[in-house]
Amino acid sequence: MDCLFCKIVNQEIPADILYEDDLVIAFSDINPQAPFHCLVIPKKHISTLNDITEQDRELVGHMVATAGKIAADKGFAQEGYRTVFNCNNHGGQTVYHIHLHVLGGKPLGWPPYQDTLKTPV
Ligand code: 5GP
Ligand code: ZN
Repeated sequence: MDCLFCKIVNQEIPADILYEDDLVIAFSDINPQAPFHCLVIPKKHISTLNDITEQDRELVGHMVATAGKIAADKGFAQEGYRTVFNCNNHGGQTVYHIHLHVLGGKPLGWPPYQDTLKTPV
């Protein structure tokens, strides 16, 4: 399968890997949007959040727990941080292998919705 993040899992392309276990890996985002920005991904290929099944319950829970562990390890858990799953076009997904963004290190903006991007319905 021609998937960028599967290639990172298989070490076919390099990444700054911060954490790895049997189920997930976490690596620095190549285009960081905060002082700290990494992605937690499952080793198993799942294209979008819409493709998660009941069988993936433990895996997705483990992704979230891994994000919290990384935040604690990096020392910004108490100050706070942001975790984001983008899904499909309106969600801004660009890589179709699910990934949990972990952003931290500074206060982050909210909300993400910008009126200028509003499209007619
Ligand atoms: P999305 O927009 O799909 O939610 O997020 C995809 C993320 O993957 C983006 O933040 C982008 O910077 C990151 N990304 C894209 N290509 C690469 C890559 O080759 N290596 C790494 N480490 N991150 C990437
Ligand atoms: Zn993949």
